[in-house]
Amino acid sequence: MLFTVNELKSWFIYLNEVIQSKKSYLTDLDQAIGDGDHGLNLARGFHEVTKKLESKEYTDVGALLKDTGMVLLSKVGGASGPLYGSAFLKAATVLQGKESATPTELTSALEAGLDAIKARGKANLTDKTMIDVWEPVLEFLKESGDEVNWDEGSRLAEEKMNATKDLEARKGRAAYLGKRSIGHIDPGATSSYYLFSTLFDVAKGVNK
Ligand code: ADP
Ligand code: MG
Repeated sequence: MLFTVNELKSWFIYLNEVIQSKKSYLTDLDQAIGDGDHGLNLARGFHEVTKKLESKEYTDVGALLKDTGMVLLSKVGGASGPLYGSAFLKAATVLQGKESATPTELTSALEAGLDAIKARGKANLTDKTMIDVWEPVLEFLKESGDEVNWDEGSRLAEEKMNATKDLEARKGRAAYLGKRSIGHIDPGATSSYYLFSTLFDVAKGVNK
């Protein structure tokens, strides 16, 4: 299977729908251990992303991801905008000039995205951030190569999102709460679960 611009467009349109429907849930999660803007930040950002992507014809998956990253960087405040924005900008450089990407190629691009998140935010695994979803999911994708069990990937992302509940935040606003951050699921890990599960749903459709 291949990810063409159509699949990537469908991904972001679907992700936007999920983010819009989970806007207040993401806000509630961020109210518990942050400042309560995560739902709003992402709802605004991904609305703008879909507007941009729907206004243009792409033949290059790298160019599509570059626009996505640029919009997120310029429209989304907080920590998550620059982090997601730089992830997609970096991923775009890996797929620059390509009409489509194999699962392996998309994994390489998203891995470069994870590197950008880490370079920018200086967080690591178990710091109770989006990385706690990105890193294990990319590990799984890397091991899978071009033969990905997409349902397994979604289950893994969900499990890792839920596992942030027991962690103490060491990065971002939630870190100010120290041990009081324990017992709450991380908002960015949750939006990252949506990001991967929507991608995997789109991939499953493509497989049929
Ligand atoms: P802000 O914290 O500035 O209000 P958001 O509420 O939009 O921004 O995003 C918060 C989420 O961003 C957190 O739940 C966490 O997953 C993620 N995050 C915060 N800081 C970092 C970091 N340094 N590295 C990776 N992810 C981070
Ligand atoms: Mg916030």
